[in-house]
This record gives sequence, C-alpha cells and structure tokens, in this order.
Amino acid sequence: MFDLDLDSAASWIKKRGYRSVAVQLPEGLKMDALGISDFLSRSGEVAVTVLGDPCYGACDLFSDYRRHADALVHFGHSPIDSQESDEDIFFVEVRAEPEDIEKHVAVASRDLPHRIGLLATVQYVGLIPKVKKALETNGKKVFIGTGDSRIFHPGQVLGCNFSAAESVNGEVDAFLYLGEGDFHPLAAAFGTEKDIAVLNPLTGEIRCVKDARDRMLRKRFAAIESAKGAESFLVIVCTKAGQDRSAQADALIGEIRVRGKKAYKLLMNEVGPDALLPYDVDAYISTACPRIAMDDSARYPKPMLTVTEAEIVLGLRDWEKYEFDSITPVR
Ligand code: SF4
Repeated sequence: MFDLDLDSAASWIKKRGYRSVAVQLPEGLKMDALGISDFLSRSGEVAVTVLGDPCYGACDLFSDYRRHADALVHFGHSPIDSQESDEDIFFVEVRAEPEDIEKHVAVASRDLPHRIGLLATVQYVGLIPKVKKALETNGKKVFIGTGDSRIFHPGQVLGCNFSAAESVNGEVDAFLYLGEGDFHPLAAAFGTEKDIAVLNPLTGEIRCVKDARDRMLRKRFAAIESAKGAESFLVIVCTKAGQDRSAQADALIGEIRVRGKKAYKLLMNEVGPDALLPYDVDAYISTACPRIAMDDSARYPKPMLTVTEAEIVLGLRDWEKYEFDSITPVR
C-alpha cells in the first residue's frame, strides 16, 4: 500500500559517486531497514550504515552524518527550513495510492460544508489533487494552503506546524484532513479552531477531532493550574536542530527569575521521564517538540508545559488566549 521510491535513491547515490551513505528511518519503517540496506548497497554500489536511534521527524535529521558517511538518505519525511539545500542529503518520502479514494471522498462529502480546506500528512499529500477533484465533483469549493518554510508541500501539516491551514483559514468553513490518527489533525484543530474531518484514505473511516481537542484542552488546563504555584522550573532545550528553541527558553528563564522564582536550563537530545528524574523542580517547561507536553504529560511526575502554557502560568498570557505552541521557522 505504501510506496518507497528506492530506485530514485539508488540513482542519486550512483550519479553523485558516493562511497558510503547513512540511512535514517522513522520507527514505522525500521522493520524495512535491512531490506533497504541490501537494496541500496547492491543498486547504489555503496556502503550503507543504518542509523539505529529513534527518529520522529525531519526536525530530528541526523546532521552529524559526515563523521560516518559521505551522504545521508532520510526516509519518511519532507525537508523543513533549509534542509533541502544540503546537496548530500536525499529525502525519500513514503507515498500511498489507495484505490478507493474517490469513493471515500464522495461519502465524506455528504457531511461536509461547502468551502473546504484540504490538509494531509506527508504520506498522503500526493493524493491532494485527486481528492480536490473528487470534492469539486461533489459540489465543494476547495482551498489548499501554502505553509511557511517548515512546510514543504501545499496542504501539508506537521504535529507542530499548521501554517498551511492557517493560510486559508479565513476562506473555509471546515477542513478535510487525509491521514491516520489524531496527532497531526489536532495541531490544525487547535490552530484554526475550525472543525477538522479526518478521512483515513486506506479504510475510508471518517471522524471529527473536536472531542479529542476538547479532552486535550481540559488536560492542559489542569497542567497549567497545577504549575501555578511552582517556585522552581526546569526549562528544557532540545539539541535536535529542528526543535532547538534556545532563544525562547532564555526569554522564559528571564521571566521566571524576574518573578523571584528559580529557573534551570537543561540541554538534552531525548526528552523523557527517566532522564528528568534527577532534577528536583516543581514544573518542567519544554521548548522541544510541543507534543511532548501535550500528548505525553501523564508520563511525567511534575507538570510539563509548552512555551505558550508557561506564558499563562507566568501571567504573560490569559487562559482565554490559549494558543497551540507551534514551531515556526528560525529567522
Ligand atoms: S517537532 Fe514534534 S511535531 Fe514537529 S516535526 Fe518534530 S516530532 Fe513532529
């Protein structure tokens, strides 16, 4: 069902004459790592090193690859910011071509309003032209937004960036998102405050993320309330290039200290509950991937806040102005 364009990767390797490549895969593709290694070393005539550490997105690109190989082949994500300008990195996106997509869209159309913004996760952005046509055949007016420089494809959504949705938010009544799970559409639901219908292109299942958004918002309110009495904060900065928000961390540390409270800055690559155990503080603020706080906060013994939630705790922002903590391009 999913297609990996390994031939293009092998041609690129041969054309550029690399003798060694590092291969980086997201968790969902690691089962294919050995087959990919076999294929590339045979077809690309190259020595392959598979990178074994977890990889969550292009935010997590292994930028240190030159110590181990001539080039990097990154699977499953599209470039963010200026990553595509590194000539020694090749991105292999995963594409799905489900057979019944027009039929699924026709069913979904029955409950959709007239003006629709179309969104997708990277695996399904290739379906956008086909789905647009199918929606128009069913009488809808379709808008596809262009995101900022973290967003490579029109209509693409990341779990930390909904700028493609934001760019057409004023023109649409609701969004149709192509993908599986709540992770990406929740970002768009928080960012646009519009209804997001989720269509699983493989199964045809259609659902709305409004309830999931409301549930998460209640949990975030509870985390913010329990951090309000905190006297000490651990402000986490991530070393992954696409999650590094040091400047925002420093600004928050200044705001915390001005209020006579303690702030400690912690630099780390992999944020997780065990890694934070040695640090005895009242609350954590993560300037890394915002979804660590939003989706995984139950795993942490102390309240874990995003940047915008920390602003509420510090009185810099009202709860009524709650905002999803998106990661925007580095200027
Ligand atoms: S920062 Fe988080 S949500 Fe954004 S691309 Fe990386 S893993 Fe995904």
